[in-house]
Amino acid sequence: MSEKKNYVQGGTLYVCGTPIGNLDDMTFRAIQVLKEVDLIAAEDTRRTIKLLNYFEIKNQLESYHEHNEEEKAEKLLQLMQEGKAIALVSDAGMPGISDPGYKLVKKAIEQGIEVVPVPGPTAAISALVVSGLDTSRFAFEGFLSRKGRAREEELEKLRSEERTIIIYESPYRVQATLKDLERVLGDRRIALVRELTKLHEEKYYGKISSLLEELKGQEVKGEIVIIVEGKQPGEGLETAAWAELEIEEHVRLLMAEGLSKKEAIKRVAEIRAIPKREVYQEAIGIDFGK
Ligand code: SAM
Repeated sequence: MSEKKNYVQGGTLYVCGTPIGNLDDMTFRAIQVLKEVDLIAAEDTRRTIKLLNYFEIKNQLESYHEHNEEEKAEKLLQLMQEGKAIALVSDAGMPGISDPGYKLVKKAIEQGIEVVPVPGPTAAISALVVSGLDTSRFAFEGFLSRKGRAREEELEKLRSEERTIIIYESPYRVQATLKDLERVLGDRRIALVRELTKLHEEKYYGKISSLLEELKGQEVKGEIVIIVEGKQPGEGLETAAWAELEIEEHVRLLMAEGLSKKEAIKRVAEIRAIPKREVYQEAIGIDFGK
């Protein structure tokens, strides 16, 4: 018979991932950790009880959320200093990702307490990998500010972001956010995913404008992530700006932004909505050195 493993050690904070919908996404290790720790600090104890019941985990729960953060953090840190092992869980996914957790982790590190991840699902990465957009480099934006100057400034900063952008959004604001993204970033390619890992999981792919058209008059429900294609080379040029450029100049400009000659020709053809052949003929006589 195999020996019983010990999954936890005293005086440690376990940052423990939990499912974002489908409870069966819980990892074996997460179950063991939640069973063995001395205490589970949970964002919402009522939600976490359901998870514990599903896996027949009996353990002590303590609420830890943004409104009681300071006093609870002090208590939890004290317990860990006394040698207790504590697991931190949020309502769903990884604690600290648009969820409370970061502050406790920071304080624990400052006090020399070991912090150990117990990785689990997170909506951001789950959405990204099914978006069909470039996954090699990405920027996690989380929730945009709801309105006002802060929101405009965030959108403005995103305009020049070249990496794929991940945005969390509530179903009530999704249409407004899509409109704002189209207005400030242009009609980019996006993926909008909802209810990942749940019964009504759904994905939409396409340009923002076509998605807005598709969603017109519809009530979008559930939990949503929007993945937006990063800024493409040459995209910053307003129609009027590139319209004043000769085709050859336009190709040169994109090459100066780092594209190869071949890529630049393809991109110019796309931007100007003209055949690639036409761009190629204009650019052929010039030695681009590549
Ligand atoms: N800590 C979580 C994580 O690791 O993804 C995120 C918590 S944040 C408060 C909740 C947001 O995450 C939702 O508004 C939605 O944007 C996204 N989300 C969470 N679960 C999701 C799911 N099953 N499908 C799509 N988006 C989800």
